[in-house]
Parts: sequence; structure tokens; C-alpha cells
Amino acid sequence: MDVMGSFGTSARWLLVAVLAMSCSTAQPDGLDEVNEQVANGRRGDRATTSIARVQSVFPEIPSWQHAVVEQTRPFPFLAGEDPNSSVSVGTTSDGTLINGRWIAPSPTVEILPLQFTRDLAYGTDELVAALRSAAAHVAEKTPGSILYLGNVAQRWGGDIQWSVSHNNGRDADLAFYSRDPFGWQRRPPNLLHYGQNLRSVEFSGFYRFDAALNADLAQGLFNHTGSQIQYMFMARYLELAVVDVLRQRGVEREELIKIQEVLYEPRGSAIHDDHLHIRIYCTADDLCGGCENTGSIRPWVDEFASAKAACVERFADIVQDDVDPVQRAHAVSRLGLVGATAKRSVVIAAASDSDPGVRLAAVAVLGQLRDSESTRALIAREPLEADAAVKCALVDALGGTRGRPTADHLGAMLAREDGTMCGAGLPLKAKVAQAATNLESTGIVPALIAVLDDVQIGAAAAEALQMLTNHQEAIDWSQPTAGTDAKTQWEAWYKRNKKKTREVWLAAGFREVGYSVASLQKQSVPGLLDAILGPKHCSVNAQRALMKISGEDPASLDWSPEDAAWYWTRFFKKNQSKYGLDLSHRPERPVSATPSDAPEPDSQ
Ligand SMILES: [Zn+2]
Repeated sequence: MDVMGSFGTSARWLLVAVLAMSCSTAQPDGLDEVNEQVANGRRGDRATTSIARVQSVFPEIPSWQHAVVEQTRPFPFLAGEDPNSSVSVGTTSDGTLINGRWIAPSPTVEILPLQFTRDLAYGTDELVAALRSAAAHVAEKTPGSILYLGNVAQRWGGDIQWSVSHNNGRDADLAFYSRDPFGWQRRPPNLLHYGQNLRSVEFSGFYRFDAALNADLAQGLFNHTGSQIQYMFMARYLELAVVDVLRQRGVEREELIKIQEVLYEPRGSAIHDDHLHIRIYCTADDLCGGCENTGSIRPWVDEFASAKAACVERFADIVQDDVDPVQRAHAVSRLGLVGATAKRSVVIAAASDSDPGVRLAAVAVLGQLRDSESTRALIAREPLEADAAVKCALVDALGGTRGRPTADHLGAMLAREDGTMCGAGLPLKAKVAQAATNLESTGIVPALIAVLDDVQIGAAAAEALQMLTNHQEAIDWSQPTAGTDAKTQWEAWYKRNKKKTREVWLAAGFREVGYSVASLQKQSVPGLLDAILGPKHCSVNAQRALMKISGEDPASLDWSPEDAAWYWTRFFKKNQSKYGLDLSHRPERPVSATPSDAPEPDSQ
């Protein structure tokens, strides 16, 4: 037995053991990270944040200053649904989690100390059940075994800084079951890397990957019936050790083949030599709340297509027939969450519902759909809408659409007398000017210039003009004559340029600031990459131009300019020959850049 064989070097092991134990009982160093994040308010979508002293659930770790993030995300539950049930919304990289369930430490499941301080031990009810049942399966065969968890998800989901995924409660990082040289399973101080020899890279190989226990874990996860497993990622050589055990045990061929389809070393991300990353598919209830499966769907997996179709019908019926306006509004939002373009006409009708709450939900969904029919419906509804809140939401919804009809309608709204206010100090017309910022059609330019001297909306109109034309006029907005000055200057600019196309405007705008952009064609990619770090209007227009040139549609406009520049530089360096470019001397990352939200490979 190799446990006994290791005793020859036991003096060295003893030293390493003492080191390992002292690491595992020290106050986790991730704490500062958490407190710093809370202090900086890193994630803007947290409703409230507070610091509280929490008693540690690990008796050997003293209680610490633990960040408690209280946040709720409203979700349109319907009558008959449990408002406390978990829902996995969207995709694992862009989604959210409703009512994430905390994985309380138990005799068979614990959370590693560093990850415990991050407060990420939340998953959907079904993920938590899968983890508990697999851990129980392992402990039943080998009493005393404990499954140690790394990152799972935040209580209300969303991005976490350590991984691209883990956003909606269906992913979990699991420490591999391991043993020390004396054959004991002890809590590792963190997720440890295992080499080809199945020994930990950290602590000079003190921890040994236990293929038998990890095989039980894989089998327990695969055979759990409350949910369906999509991925079990681990490094190839670890997977082979696990599969060897399963084969020796005489696991049925069919089961083994299926397990191997799910259990493998992923391509294009970390090799997963330090944790088992698992993901479960959306359940039927998740799908009715907007859950989206991405990646492979195994042939034996139930995609719940009929359950989802039944939900869509039920939502549409509620929108059309329910007497309770709250139910109607929630059902409209649910149609939006499941992306029910087939029920577009139901949503369009709901935009004329007698209840403003239903109309509010409907215009938001039409704004998300962004197709020409939905846009036309929003434009048709606008002059009829009497409720200020709905009208303001309608303008926001239109702001997400970019076509000519939207430009014409927003232009007409600017020219109209309208005293509607959207909250304190924000006139509807300022919102209209803001919505025009996203447009790519030039028809609205004269209407924006015409309102520059309006004290309440002039500055918003100037910003929209800058974005639309890629040109900046030097205006000192602290001066009392700023509005009329701006109007005079922009009228002169428009007179000189109105015959040119927007492409010509954009290219000239880049050159005004000093970027070498002759046209918006592939030859100008280097100049466009530089412009991402320029003034905001240049940055946005450069990214949109790069999207058109590449046909790619990343969410880079939501990232910091440094991350966006990094992404696009990497993309064009990788594909330089396809675009006839030589970018080999260009650094991938701008020198001043700091990593934050841009995609990084999945990590611990
Ligand atoms: Zn992971």
C-alpha cells in the first residue's frame, strides 16, 4: 500500500505537514480582498452592503470581519409559484441567480477557508442537492470523507472576479478528494494543483490525489437524479486515473461512455488540475425563468422543450386574461425573460393595457426584442401614452434600437412642446437626447442642434451630437452663453458637412484627435485600436467600427476602455493574416491597463 511506502521520507513529510496545517488554520488572506471590494463598492448593482461580525462555522478558525452583502433582485414570480425557490436566469457567463441557496457546511460538505470569506457558496436548489448527494455517496462508501468546495456563486449571481462563468448558480469548483502521506483525508489549505504523478504541486507533493474517492464523486454526480450534469472538467491525466478506477470496478460500458463524455479536460481554458469544475443544465423551472443552456447538449439530456412551450402559453394566457394587473405585468416580464418572440403580438397588445404597470413591463420587453416590429409598436404607442413613467421607459426602450424610424421619431419628439418630467430634474426631452446617443442614423442631427440653446437639454443634445458625428466642438458649458455658442458652432459645422456620409464624418473625427484612420475599412484597424483609448466618442465609434469589420459582437462597450482595447488587439493579432494586417509588434495589452472584467480563463 503506497501510504505505508511513503513513510521512508516521513521526516520531510512531517515538516511539510506542520507547514500545511499552519496554513490551513491561519486567517485566510482573501479577507482583505473582500473588505476592500466592499469599501470600494466594486459591483454597482449591489443594493446595500454592510459589514458584520459573523461567527465562524469552522471551530478552528476564529470569527472574522466578514462582508455580508445583502441584495435582492426582483423576479416576476406568478401565482402558484414558490417565491422563495431558486431560479437560474440567463447563461452561466452573463446570467443572474434568484434566491441562491447557501450551502451550509455539513459533516460531508465544507467550503475552503479562502472561498468561504468570498461568500460565494450559493447555488440553485438543484445544484446544492447534487453536491450534497454526491458527497453523501462518497461518504457512504468511505465514512468520514468530506467534499471541500471552492467558488460556487454569489447569492444573487452575477460576475465574480475569479471566473468568466459561475454567474447563475449552476457552476461549482470542487477540491479533489486527497490524502496525506499517512492516509488521512485532511482539509487542504486551498485548491491545490496536482501533477502527472498525482501529487500536489504545492507542499512538495504532500497531498495525493485519491482516484478512488474522486471516481465515487464523479459517479455520484453523474447518477444524481434531481438534475442533469453537463460538465465535469479535470485535467486529462487525472481523468484517466478516475476512469481507470471505474473500469476496474466493472462499471457498465454504457455508463462509462456517458461519464467520459461529460468528464474531460476542457479546451481553450485552464486545464483544471487544481479543481473539478462542474455545471448542471437548466431545470424545467429554470427554463421558464429565462435560463439558457449553452455548449453541448448530450443526446440523453432532457431539454424540457415541451415544459418550456407550456410555460410560454401559460404566460401569454395570463397576460391576456388575468384580472390581476400584477399577474399580467409579471407574465409579460416572463415572456421577455424566455425570449418569446412567438408571443410578440401579445406583448404589443399589453403595451396598450389599461394598467400602467403592465404597459411598463411591455415596453421594456419590446425594447429588449429590438426587432423592427417591436420598434414600430413602441413608436406607435408613444403619442398615445399618458403615464409619465411609462413614457419615460418607452424612450429608454427606443434608445436601445438604432434604426432610421427611431431616429425620425426621436427627432420629432425633440421638436415638440412637451413638459413631461422623468424623475426629479430630468425632462423627458433630455432623455430623448440621451436615447439619440446610440443612434447610427444622421437624420436627427438638425433636431439636436435646434435644442442646443435649451438650458435643460442642451448638454445632453451636445453629447448625442458628439457620438453621432464623432466630432467635438469646444464649448465651455459653465458659461451662460454656452447654449447659444454651441448652437452657432454646430450649425456652422453642419453646413460644411451635411452632404457627407456618416462614414466620412467618423473617419474625419478620428483624425481630428490624431488617430490614423483613413476610412472605416480593415486597413485602418491599427488606428481604430488606438482610438479605443481616446475620448469617449472616439472609443465607442472605434469599437462599433471594429465590430462591423470583424463581424464579432462582444459586449466590449460595457467594459473599461483598457479591457476593450486588450480584447480587440488580441482578436486582430490572432486574425491578422485574414485581414491583411501586420500587428506583430503591437503589445496585446496597453501598458497602463489593469485586468478587471475582460474574459480570463476560468480559475480558482
Ligand atoms: Zn470554476
